[in-house]
Amino acid sequence: MPIEEIFRDYGEAHFRKLEREVIAALPESDCVVATGGGCVQSAENAANLRHESLVFFLDVSPEVSYGRISESSRPALTDKDPVDEVKYLINLRYPAYLRSSDFRVDADGDAKKVADEIIRIISDAVSPLSESDIASGVAGVGGAAVAGDAGDAGGEVSAGAVRYGEVMKSFSGVPMPEKKSDLLFSFVKKNPLGSICAIAGRPSGHSRTPYLFNTIFERYGIGAHCTYLEKETAGDVAGAVRSCGLRAISVTIPFKEDIIPYLDEINEDAAAIGAVNTVFNAGGRLYGSNTDWYGVMKPLVKSGIKVKSRKAVVIGAGGAARAAVYALMKLGADVTAVNRTVERAERLAADMNASLIDRGCLGTDGEPVKIPCKAGGIDKMREIMPDIIINATSIGMRAEDTPVDRENRVCLRKGVCVFDLVYTPPVTRLLFEAQSAGCTVISGVEMFVYQAAEQLFRYFGIRVDADEIRGILR
Ligand code: NAP
Repeated sequence: MPIEEIFRDYGEAHFRKLEREVIAALPESDCVVATGGGCVQSAENAANLRHESLVFFLDVSPEVSYGRISESSRPALTDKDPVDEVKYLINLRYPAYLRSSDFRVDADGDAKKVADEIIRIISDAVSPLSESDIASGVAGVGGAAVAGDAGDAGGEVSAGAVRYGEVMKSFSGVPMPEKKSDLLFSFVKKNPLGSICAIAGRPSGHSRTPYLFNTIFERYGIGAHCTYLEKETAGDVAGAVRSCGLRAISVTIPFKEDIIPYLDEINEDAAAIGAVNTVFNAGGRLYGSNTDWYGVMKPLVKSGIKVKSRKAVVIGAGGAARAAVYALMKLGADVTAVNRTVERAERLAADMNASLIDRGCLGTDGEPVKIPCKAGGIDKMREIMPDIIINATSIGMRAEDTPVDRENRVCLRKGVCVFDLVYTPPVTRLLFEAQSAGCTVISGVEMFVYQAAEQLFRYFGIRVDADEIRGILR
C-alpha cells in the first residue's frame, strides 16, 4: 500500500507504528536502508537502525528539499503551507537527525557526488588502519608528513590515519585506569572514524561513565568507545574535542563552568544553571547542555513525592546545588539554598531567580515558575523544617561524615524526603540516619543513572531504561 494511502486512510500514528515494526524487523545481513526523516524521532527506531550499522544523515536545505518533493505525492504532515512545512519539520527534527546518525553528508548537490562521499566515508570507516597508515597519521599530525608524503604508505594520508594521529597526540599520557588507553587506540585502529566519547575532568579516572557507556555500546551494537580526557584547562579539553573529532564529552569537576566560553552554543537549562555537563559535537559545532538537573528532577518525580509548593532545602552552592535548585524550582518547590559560605548561596539564589522568575521561565507543569529561591547558612535548615532535603555538598563520601549536623538532625523526621547527591558510597551516613528516622530516601546513584540516560539520548538518540543502567552499575 503506498504511503500516501496509509496516511489518508489510517493517519500518521498508524504509519509510524508500521514504520517501527518494519525497522524492528530489518535483517541482520548486509543491506542498505533508506528512511524518511520522521523515522529517527523515535528512539526505538534510532536504536534499531544503529545496531551494528552506520547511519548517514543526508543533510538537505529546506529549499532543496522542497524542490525535490514538491512534485511528489508526499502527504502533508501539518496544516502549514508546503514550503513552511518543510522548513518547520527540518528545524524541529534537526537535533534528532544529528544524534541518531554517525555521519552527516551535505546532500544538496547531485546524487553522484553524495554517493561518492558516502562511499569514501564507508571505506575510511571500515578499513582497519595498517601499521604504515598509523605511522603516516602520527607523523602527519606531528608535522613530519603531509598528504602525498606519507612514509611507507606512499599515498595521501587517509582521514582515519589523521584521526589516529590526533587521538595519539591528545590522549597519550592522559592518566587513566590501566590498559584503558590501549583500548582507545585499538578501537581507533579498527574503527578509524568510529564515535569517541569521553569523561572530561581533573581527575577523571575514577568516573564510572566510560564503563557504563562502553557496556551500553556493546549491548546496542553501537560503534563507539568512551574514554577519559584529563587536561590542564577547559580550553585544552575543547581543543581535543575538535582536533580528534570526539562525538561528545561528559564534563565534570573542575570544567563544568569553565568549558562554556569554548562552546558554540548552550541551551536554556545550562545557561540558567551556569554549568554544562554535556557537550555534543555536531560536525565541529559544540553544543553544551546540562543533564544534572534532569538527574535530580527525574528521581523526585518517579518516586511520586509531592514537590509543588513544598518546602525544600538544598545544602551546598556549587554546580550540583545549582542543578538541584533549578530542578526543584521547575517542579514548583519553595526552595532555600543553605551553604557553609553563605554569600555563595545568596549568589546562587539571585542567579536562579533572575533566570527562572525574571525571565518568566516555565516549570515542568507548563506554568511560570513563581516561588523565589531564598538563601542562608546551614543553621537556617531547622527554622524551615523542610519537606525535602537535598545534599549537594561533597560531605558524605567518607562513611563518618554527614552534612546534617546534630543541631539540624531534628529535620530528619517521618514524611521528609532526603536525596543525597553523593553516590559513593550509595548509602551515605545521611541516608542511613534519614531512613532510620522514617524519611523517604533517594541515593545519588539515581541522579547518576538519569543524567547518564539523558546523555546517551543526546549523544546517540537511544533511550536506555533506568533499570538497565542500574543493573550495569551494580
Ligand atoms: P562543588 O562545586 O565543589 O561544591 C561543593 C559544595 O560543598 C560547596 O557548596 C561547598 O561549600 C560544600 N562543602 C565542601 N566541603 C564542605 C565542608 N567540609 N563543610 C561544609 N560544606 C562543604 O561540587 P559539586 O560539583 O557541586 O558537587 C557536589 C557533590 O555532588 C559531590 O559530592 C559530587 O560527587 C555530587 N554530584 C553527584 C552527581 C551524581 O550524578 N550523583 C552529579 C554531580 C555531582 P563552600 O561553598 O562553602 O565551599
